[in-house]
Amino acid sequence: MSGPIKVALVGIGKIAVDQHVPSIAASEDWELAATVSRAGTVDGVPSYTEIDTMLAENPDIGVVSLCLPPVPRFDYAATCLRAGRHVMLEKPPGATLAEVHALEDMAQDAGKTLFATWHSRMAKGVAAAKAALSGKTVESAHIDWKENVRQWHPGQDWVFEPGGMGVLDPGINALSILTEVLPDPVHLKKGVLHTPENRQTPIKANLTFTGGITAEFDWLKEGEQMWEMTFRTTDGDLVYLMEGGNACVVNDQDMAVSELGEYPALYARMADLVKAGARDVDLAPMVHVSDIMTLSRRIIAPAFEW
Ligand code: NAP
Repeated sequence: MSGPIKVALVGIGKIAVDQHVPSIAASEDWELAATVSRAGTVDGVPSYTEIDTMLAENPDIGVVSLCLPPVPRFDYAATCLRAGRHVMLEKPPGATLAEVHALEDMAQDAGKTLFATWHSRMAKGVAAAKAALSGKTVESAHIDWKENVRQWHPGQDWVFEPGGMGVLDPGINALSILTEVLPDPVHLKKGVLHTPENRQTPIKANLTFTGGITAEFDWLKEGEQMWEMTFRTTDGDLVYLMEGGNACVVNDQDMAVSELGEYPALYARMADLVKAGARDVDLAPMVHVSDIMTLSRRIIAPAFEW
């Protein structure tokens, strides 16, 4: 393959504009060749409202990156794989585990790349935390993932609809880091979900996993936002991940962090996967979300309005 890889971006909304468009523009590996969105467009890029039309008119676009919310994503992904395109999925990779397994089978049969991305795993300090915990036994850990939904998802009602996952939409980012850096797997022991009386999905979650791991996800945090994780090992090591995984401190020492930002690193990985004809679909974070929805106690919380 020579020259940049042509990619179409589907679902031109908050994350497409904030992260995907600039990351593609900054990379020599990629060319944004088309967009598909019912309303959104990107200046200077051919835009379509229907995925079938874009695919039919652009046989040279080999990769489609899907940035729409999880519930509508499966149909778009299946259409693209059937049309012989490589597919990149925003997190969470789907609305259910079964539909992502189905996509994985389709991609395998078609010999196409499917990349279920976890942008927080690419945060700059995650590799350092993983290295610090490698070969150790984690005695306890705590996650605080507390942000203001009104700031980060303004007016996005889909997050409170079935399949939108509520506070587990950002929470799955923490779980994607947890499942990346822990030397041994853990599973949920108990949880409490607070769901606004007028909504379908939780706005707060308190979780206890095996291995002495606890987590608090809160979508009503005002003021300073908090995306932090602390790990204590049986050797007495303390590993802190802050800023959503972008800073790492081990035993009071700042650790060297990766160079690339989260989305540039995702597109670099996708380019490698496409060139190698490989797939990367790790559903471990989504298994935890599914378990949280299955096992947790429910508490009805006050109504939520934007
Ligand atoms: P968004 O802005 O609400 O949605 C993205 C775009 O998808 C919308 O602008 C809309 O474009 C299209 N869309 C929405 N519902 C659709 C439907 N039912 N059918 C077809 N198209 C639909 O959401 P977002 O914040 O960008 O999030 C999208 C994904 O990125 C989510 O999975 C989210 O977890 C992930 N993500 C978000 C953030 C964040 O900070 N917001 C950060 C990282 C990852 P048109 O109206 O033009 O079709």
